[in-house]
Amino acid sequence: MQTVAFLGLGAIGAPMARRIAAAGFTLRVWNRTHERAAAFAKTGATIAPSAADAVRDADVVVTCLSTSADVEQVLDDGVLEALRAGMVLVDCTSGDPVTSRRLAGRLAAWDVGFVDAPVSGGVKGAEEGTLTVMCGGDEQHIERARPVIEAFGKKIVHCGPVGAGDAVKAMNQALLALTIWGTGEALVALAKSGVSPETALEVLNASSGRSNASMNLFPERVLTRAFPRTFRLSLLAKDARIAADITRAERVPSPLTQLAAELCTMAARELGDEADHVEAVKVIERWAGTEIR
Ligand code: NDP
Repeated sequence: MQTVAFLGLGAIGAPMARRIAAAGFTLRVWNRTHERAAAFAKTGATIAPSAADAVRDADVVVTCLSTSADVEQVLDDGVLEALRAGMVLVDCTSGDPVTSRRLAGRLAAWDVGFVDAPVSGGVKGAEEGTLTVMCGGDEQHIERARPVIEAFGKKIVHCGPVGAGDAVKAMNQALLALTIWGTGEALVALAKSGVSPETALEVLNASSGRSNASMNLFPERVLTRAFPRTFRLSLLAKDARIAADITRAERVPSPLTQLAAELCTMAARELGDEADHVEAVKVIERWAGTEIR
């Protein structure tokens, strides 16, 4: 069985790492804020005092940090020197392709493989091991890491060379942002017109305007006013900005993608760093003076 190092036990990293421990891998975990790692004692994982200690002699290293820049910072803070030839680093951060390609180049010089492998499916999908995993990189590196990825992923897709996984993820996130925002505008306008949100969703979800936002996020999080904090709005804003950068770099006319990035960035600034992505709807409600209830 392979030895796995997992760096980054945040909202989604923690349940992914728990799946790896439950699948029987020898697991070493590290988190910048130690308390989050300490909670792993009962999983049988070894809690490493530093990221470098976690990765030493591992077969596969999984990172799940906020941004690609954070991954590069951790590599520069001693991890790079602790890696050895033949390892594969699977970066499950929703990262940016430019940084991922640079990281892959730096790791190749040490004969270490790099796979960008952002995930979709949320905290629930991580807990259940049903995440979609979008991989970019060499087939041989993905195959070496596949048993580990299968511990938390159900649909594992090789999207292309390094950076392709990040690119697909970023576009998915821009679409997510647009459907949350669009559904929010629709339900606020309908509420003002005298149509209850329950009735509106009943119709939308049997019609062509439906989406994951209308089918799951709004019924579970907005209509209940629960707004659980599972995925920070500031991270969605980061994702949408990556998507906007890609469309600009590829010279694709992309007013909606640019707008998704702007709206999420504005809303995250207004609601603060801990706000959940679905709470963006509260900004529309505030501007309109009407709540979706
Ligand atoms: P969190 O904010 O909950 O956790 C972020 C993690 O990154 C923490 O472990 C944090 O450490 C660590 N971190 C951030 N910056 C650094 C740094 N400079 N050095 C070391 N560690 C650092 O985020 P999530 O777990 O929600 O998200 C992680 C990634 O997964 C993001 O890229 C996100 O976009 C993506 N994602 C999240 C989903 C979700 O539902 N939550 C779904 C799909 C993708 P510390 O505890 O010390 O702050």
